[in-house]
Amino acid sequence: ICKLQRLPISFVGIVSSSRRIAAMSASTGIRPIVFSGPSGSGKSTLIQRLMERHPGCFRFCVSHTTRQPRAGEKHGQHYWYVTEAEMLADIDAGKFIESTHFAGNRYGTSYKAVTDVINSGQIPVLDVDVQGVKSFKAAKLQPPPTYVYIKAPSMTDLEQRLRARCTDDDEKIRLRLAEAEAGNAYADQAGAYDVVIVNDNLDAAFAELDKFLADDVARALAVKASAS
Ligand code: ADP
Ligand code: 5GP
Repeated sequence: ICKLQRLPISFVGIVSSSRRIAAMSASTGIRPIVFSGPSGSGKSTLIQRLMERHPGCFRFCVSHTTRQPRAGEKHGQHYWYVTEAEMLADIDAGKFIESTHFAGNRYGTSYKAVTDVINSGQIPVLDVDVQGVKSFKAAKLQPPPTYVYIKAPSMTDLEQRLRARCTDDDEKIRLRLAEAEAGNAYADQAGAYDVVIVNDNLDAAFAELDKFLADDVARALAVKASAS
């Protein structure tokens, strides 16, 4: 008890939020799906297909970021776009499961982003960098999330996709490629992810992902059916 009393307020907040996630997940058996992989490997494309294929089953947990929105991105849909000061204040207040610095910007997942989705009976979908994956594992959420790594067939393909997307200048592309090398090295370690999918042919990569998540989809459909 004495040790607990000495914990910083933010840590106590994290413990109780973590329990809330566990309690809500336990009643439905729904596991969050944590996607990771180099920027440009095709995560958003595959996640979008998954949502179109199984309407109402998956919902994206909207992260916070200090980066500027890209053309077409919407506040509250793709990210919550915040200032560095706002984000640091919320991190200090213990509102985040994890946060990271990536390619010059800050990104993070709030507890609320995940609990909102679990409350809706849908499967939380997250898209985080390799540091985020490690932090999620350290947070020991129950039931544990499923970890999916999406890889481009080669660094050359990845660079072409990043350039074709036209959202980053040369310096950002260089940073993203360096992050990709480090992410791939972690993904090569045994047990780092539950599945690693090489997104070469988009249809084939999607079929592999869809098959891998079939049990999660069945669980979400059962939750939906029992609620209606
Ligand atoms: P991420 O979300 O991982 O950053 P995106 O889904 O935005 O990646 O994909 C990056 C770019 O690559 C997009 O322009 C997308 O249309 C394209 N792309 C995705 N999958 C493939 C694929 N299998 N082959 C070729 N281009 C792809
Ligand atoms: P982008 O700027 O391309 O949207 O994202 C850059 C990187 O940040 C991607 O690798 C993405 O997975 C990661 N990312 C996005 N949101 C989060 C988050 O909430 N936490 C962490 N750790 N990484 C994130």
